[in-house]
Amino acid sequence: MSLVPCRACEHRVDTSALACPQCGATDPGKKISRQQRNAISFVVQLIVWLTLLGYGGSYLWNTVAPMVRQYVAKPQSDQAPANRP
Ligand SMILES: [Zn+2]
Repeated sequence: MSLVPCRACEHRVDTSALACPQCGATDPGKKISRQQRNAISFVVQLIVWLTLLGYGGSYLWNTVAPMVRQYVAKPQSDQAPANRP
């Protein structure tokens, strides 16, 4: 528990205060507002998911797709070479 200046009006407020008693700013003790934090965490999650999807997608494309192609191609030609381009 400590007092910090409100990020909006510099009024001394507790770090755990939900709103500034002087100007009403939300989370006055934090550098950024809750909305900004939510937006940032949303963007971070989006980047993480896109990265995972990118890795997962390329993994599927490089690993599963050739197997599927091989499996699909099998009935037409059993003599097909193992390493197809
Ligand atoms: Zn304030």
